[in-house]
Amino acid sequence: MSIRVRFAPSPTGPLHMGGVRTALYNYLFARKHGGKFLLRIEDTDQKRFVPGAELYIMEALQWCGIEWDEGPDKSGPHEPYRQSERKEIYRDFARQLIDSGKAYYAFDTPEELEEMRSRLEKERKGNPQYDSQSRLTMNNSLTLSEIEVREKLAAKTPYVIRIKTPADEEVVVNDIIRGRVSVNSNLLDDKVLFKSDGLPTYHLANVVDDFLMKITHVIRGEEWLPSAPLHVLLYRYLGWEKEMPQFAHLPLLLKPDGKGKLSKRDGDKMGFPVFPLEWKDPSSGEISTGYRESGYLPEAFVNLLALLGWNPGTEQEMFSMEELIAAFSLERVGKSGARFDPEKAKWFNHQHLQNKPIQEVTVELLKVLSEKGVNIDIHMVEKIVPLLRERVNFVHELQEEAAFAFKAPSDYDQKFAKKKWKAETPGLMKALAEKLQKADAFNLTGLEAVLNTFMEENEIGAGKIMPGLRLSLVGAGSGPDVKEIMVLLGKDEVIRRINQAIDSLPVTD
Ligand code: GLU
Repeated sequence: MSIRVRFAPSPTGPLHMGGVRTALYNYLFARKHGGKFLLRIEDTDQKRFVPGAELYIMEALQWCGIEWDEGPDKSGPHEPYRQSERKEIYRDFARQLIDSGKAYYAFDTPEELEEMRSRLEKERKGNPQYDSQSRLTMNNSLTLSEIEVREKLAAKTPYVIRIKTPADEEVVVNDIIRGRVSVNSNLLDDKVLFKSDGLPTYHLANVVDDFLMKITHVIRGEEWLPSAPLHVLLYRYLGWEKEMPQFAHLPLLLKPDGKGKLSKRDGDKMGFPVFPLEWKDPSSGEISTGYRESGYLPEAFVNLLALLGWNPGTEQEMFSMEELIAAFSLERVGKSGARFDPEKAKWFNHQHLQNKPIQEVTVELLKVLSEKGVNIDIHMVEKIVPLLRERVNFVHELQEEAAFAFKAPSDYDQKFAKKKWKAETPGLMKALAEKLQKADAFNLTGLEAVLNTFMEENEIGAGKIMPGLRLSLVGAGSGPDVKEIMVLLGKDEVIRRINQAIDSLPVTD
């Protein structure tokens, strides 16, 4: 059997990071088994349609490197892959269900439905729903005569088509992650499958398309588990039980404190993105930040998502996409919610930043610098990257860390200067500058030798010159190794900065 899986988002807004994880797991599963990964846009709910959302979803997946084999922008054996372009298909299946007595027309008005709800609320003390028990009290093709039904349809009376759930029967969903999940059908309601606007609801369209597109595994979020028994019934009623895909419902992503589902509000409150890319709400104009815009590398984002719910069974935490494909299995996806840790997310970015080829980070840093209007030559940036990246989590943080490389200090850390720029410091610095002027090899070993000889000759320890030297070069008391900084700046600039410090720093006793 060749594996076929799909990611089936509804374009109702930006993709939450949980949605990206669902897409990722589908993708990994497909690639691991040499199968196909489909992107299907489920846009039958016109009321919830948000312009720009479909494009956003595609761009987000592309940024992550999650490539689909068939989709709205790619041809394939089961196109089109956008449900709004498949309307005609669903109508036939809705009719098939009616003809076989597995579904029925319901003509209830909003008032009648409301009346039913309040009546059942009293009678049942909760759970007031349109179901196997209540449907015979309602206005539908089960209670009306055939002629009445025909008349209503001819008169274009608004209707919906509802599934006729069986009474008191166990409906079983076998889930790869959760095992056997069984529900009594009395708890299920007669969900609407088709509306008089000519469009199916999610449930019918989803099942029909999974069947027609020969989907073998439905891998999706836990929030769809309650719908799975209904889907199982639909497969049975449509005569497709043998072709029914296997289900795998993924655990929720939880808030950092583990209490409840991770939401956009948590991100806003705690300062981390919940969307892969920045999103501008087309109606309110509100902008939500994305992982991309916050400086995350796509490979880090993918890595952290992969481990939110799945574990490799080893201590390994760092994974490339290729390694994820090799290691992934649905059997290692947990049942319980996966807690999102924003600090750990940064850690992943830090690690991937260290592993990335210098040239690639250089290109990224040049982009950041040019956006900020900093003009700097590529060779300097190429040297900065290996020197400083260990100190940062994000490429954009390199700009601040490397500020000293772009320009001489315009002010100095006064507290540090007060402690370390003593009466004898300017003299020592001057003498050192002269020695440096004569140095032939302005590299790490050459500088090491000059500094050591200077200290020996003057019978002083490193504490007498290194803090002053650092202060002269970067204006502060911390930063990377002083000799590395010197190599980076080059002889002339180092001497210029030492002289500038001598001229501008007041001494303390
Ligand atoms: N359209 C559904 C969603 O928006 C798809 C759920 C499924 O994968 O079955 O998530």
